[in-house]
Amino acid sequence: MRTEVGTARRSAELFERARAVTPGGVNSPVRAFQAVGGTPRFMVRGQGPYLWDADGTRYVDLVASWGPMIHGHAHEPVVEAVRAAATSGLSFGTPTEGEIDLAAEIIGRVGPVEQVRLVNSGTEATMSAIRLARGFTGRRVIVKFAGCYHGHVDALLAEAGSGVATLGLPTTPGVTGASAADTVVLPYNDLDAVRAAFAERGAEIAAVITEAAAGNMGAIAPDPGFNEGLRDLCTEHGALLVMDEVMTGFRVSAAGWFGIDSVAGDLYTFGKVMSGGLPAAAFGGRADVMAALAPAGPVYQAGTLSGNPVAVAAGLASLRAATPEVYTTLNTNATRLGTLLDTALTEAGVEHTVQFAGNLLSVFFTGEPVRDYAGAKATATGRYPALFHALLARGVYAPPSAFEAWFVNAAMDEEAFGIIASALPEAARAAAA
Ligand code: PLP
Repeated sequence: MRTEVGTARRSAELFERARAVTPGGVNSPVRAFQAVGGTPRFMVRGQGPYLWDADGTRYVDLVASWGPMIHGHAHEPVVEAVRAAATSGLSFGTPTEGEIDLAAEIIGRVGPVEQVRLVNSGTEATMSAIRLARGFTGRRVIVKFAGCYHGHVDALLAEAGSGVATLGLPTTPGVTGASAADTVVLPYNDLDAVRAAFAERGAEIAAVITEAAAGNMGAIAPDPGFNEGLRDLCTEHGALLVMDEVMTGFRVSAAGWFGIDSVAGDLYTFGKVMSGGLPAAAFGGRADVMAALAPAGPVYQAGTLSGNPVAVAAGLASLRAATPEVYTTLNTNATRLGTLLDTALTEAGVEHTVQFAGNLLSVFFTGEPVRDYAGAKATATGRYPALFHALLARGVYAPPSAFEAWFVNAAMDEEAFGIIASALPEAARAAAA
């Protein structure tokens, strides 16, 4: 069952060329393998649960383009929808019917979402949602949680997870004091801290933004009552609750994390799965709040390619293909992967916790459950590169950072799991060494 993995010579050549023309050789930092070392693989093809790199090596993909590819790669209904849409023209800069259908599909799945605006990336979605929250409430302050990543929005980069955590950046040059001054960063899963912030600055707080379940400092589900507590505090103080479901949305259930805990946000942000793998994202929520958005209201927001017909077709096809059976399969595959990881690490004697947030999972090198960013940073992340590279060398593409979640897809079959199962024991021993 072992995949024969070749050299990464062609990827190394491409990386060399890429570094000459692009900072660090990549268009998004985590792709550069800085946290794990070695040569980033340049991929040329994806099909079902597999990716093939430029050297012809096949990998079981446990990254899924960082979330979007729940059906696996090149899923025929999605490819067909893209082909049909592209044949009719790539972009018009006018309204199209597909945009209504995609908005309706999102609204139909997530109860608290009454209206939707389509954008091009999750970053744009969160940036626009906090602008809208500030415009609607007439307040300035945004509360976010350490380790939660909401895209590279200036005001939300403080103590962000994902690539910011991977690179160990406390914050980033280029974000001015002015744009960060109105951001209050609190520990995740700490309602007392949120209560204290509201007690001190309640009248200034426009919104609390949270990942509905955290996936960017590893997978960390909200403690029971945490999201409910945020809901109550926001309501009590007239602030909006922004549920960032860019990662969880339409992946952890048909209705995202809302489908799991039923806690209603005032605004939501979506991306990834609803894009089908093309650049599309959305924000939405209460109709009275969304009514403040231009041209209905005064809060400006726009986009040349927003609601692009090809991206919309991909997103719609991806959501329509996401049947209840697909979610059952995703959950089964996540449990199966987690069990394989757990067994291999236990047998190798590596202290670890395999932790889930719905069907997102990650491996923490600690014996204790991890509840927040401080906890995630305190784990033995130094073991991760060995695990990662031993898997990579055996045809399994795991996230190239200890702080990222692992993403399963519904196309994973017996062969794919067989490859993972035969790669893991050696990988776990490498992590132990
Ligand atoms: N919000 C969350 C929770 C995310 O996980 C991400 C990206 O990983 C974003 C926002 C930003 O999305 P994008 O990378 O499409 O800008």
